[in-house]
Parts: sequence; C-alpha cells; structure tokens
Amino acid sequence: MMKIWKWFVFLFLMLVLTGCGFQKVEHTNRTQLITMGHSQEMQLGLQASEQIKKENKEHLNSDKEFTQRVQTIGRKIAAVANRPDFKWEFHTISKDTLNAFCLPGGKVFVYKGILKAAKNDDQLATVIAHEIAHALAHHGAERASMNQIVGIGGQLLGAAVQAKVPQYHNSIAIAYGYGAQLGVVLPYSRTHELEADQIGLILMTQAGYDTKEALKFWENMGEASGKKQSGNDFFSTHPTNEKRIEQIRQYNLNN
Ligand SMILES: [Zn+2]
Repeated sequence: MMKIWKWFVFLFLMLVLTGCGFQKVEHTNRTQLITMGHSQEMQLGLQASEQIKKENKEHLNSDKEFTQRVQTIGRKIAAVANRPDFKWEFHTISKDTLNAFCLPGGKVFVYKGILKAAKNDDQLATVIAHEIAHALAHHGAERASMNQIVGIGGQLLGAAVQAKVPQYHNSIAIAYGYGAQLGVVLPYSRTHELEADQIGLILMTQAGYDTKEALKFWENMGEASGKKQSGNDFFSTHPTNEKRIEQIRQYNLNN
C-alpha cells in the first residue's frame, strides 16, 4: 500500500494541477476548498438548470401570480447579492413539494408547496435568501470538491477502503455524472446550513425584508414538514438543528 506521505504529496499535486485552491466565503470569512474552476461551476449550474426546466416543463412558471412574487422578491435579493458574474433566473414549479433551491450561477427554483410555510413576502424572502446564500457561498461546488478529494483518496488507498466508503463513490457519480443533482439532491452539511442562514439574514436585511419573519418561517416549516414526510422535502436536503433558531434569534437581537 502507498505510504501515507506519498498520498499527501499526490493529493497536493492533484489539487495544484486541477487549479483548485482555498478561498474565503464572503460575509462569514470561512476558508473553503474548491477543486473546480469558476467557469466549470457556472457551467454545471447552467446544465442542471436546463435539465430541471425540461423535466418540469408542464409545471414551470404555470402559476403566473406566484411566479411574479418569486421574481420580485428574488430580484431584490439578487440586487444586494452583488454578483455581476451570476446570470440570475427565478422560476416556480407548481408541485406540492415543500422545497426550493438555487443552482450555481443564480438559477433559483421555488416549489409552490413552499407556500404552506411561507405565509407572506418576508417569509418567502427567507427561503429565497437562504437558497441564494448557498449559491453565493459555493456550497454545491465545495461539496462536490470534498467528494472528489475523498474519492481520490479512496482510489489511492485501494479496494479495501473503497469497500468501506462506497457512499463517497456514489456521491461523485451523482455530482459529476448528472449535473442536475448538483446542489439539489445531495444533503448540505450542518455547517453549510447555518452559513446559508447567516448570509440569508444579511441579504434579507439589505433587501429591506423583516428578519423577525424568518423565525416564523422556520417554525411554519417545522409544522408543515411534520405533517407530510417526503424524500423531496426541504429537510431531506437541508438538515437542521436547534442552532438555526438560536442563531436567528441572536441576529435579530443584534440588528
Ligand atoms: Zn439550506
């Protein structure tokens, strides 16, 4: 078996050669490692977006009034996000699913089912800002990068380790083999969740929305998702804990 130091040398060279590097997340200053270039990330977002539009053709933006609301709120939040490199789009999918997502590059999709928890514009802004925050902080690319690094390690360490961590190989196949999965199906980590909440609250404030409604939104989400459990629902891709509420309370006290 390859000695551990050789593994690190190889990994380091791989990271340098693939043009990846450490970068800081805007607003929180957390250091993250991204193994893909900016244009590749944008490309993956675009591909996934086209795929999702095709798959949801009949339900896409079919509710004009809801689409109008999502676009108005989305554009206000995008305006303060200050990312001229993003090509923003705001779409709705008229399905009962309690979920929403934003793909790399700023393609936002909100399921109509979210209205079970988002009772007013400030609450709808909470979930849109949260999703946009995931994209601004490159969470999809970071997650795919981690999977890739673990994957390289797995291959180098041989079949014995591969057998023990088959889930990593699956996630690489999902992240790279099928663009539509990036940022949609793989669950975010709790670190990413709290960071998206934190950045989302900043965006909400800057766009003129009431962050006190964010607390109500998450309470509504807890109730609505308790009633109906589905693999497509929000908490299956956005794991949560009590820290979320605590962090939002703290933000509201300080702002
Ligand atoms: Zn999230």
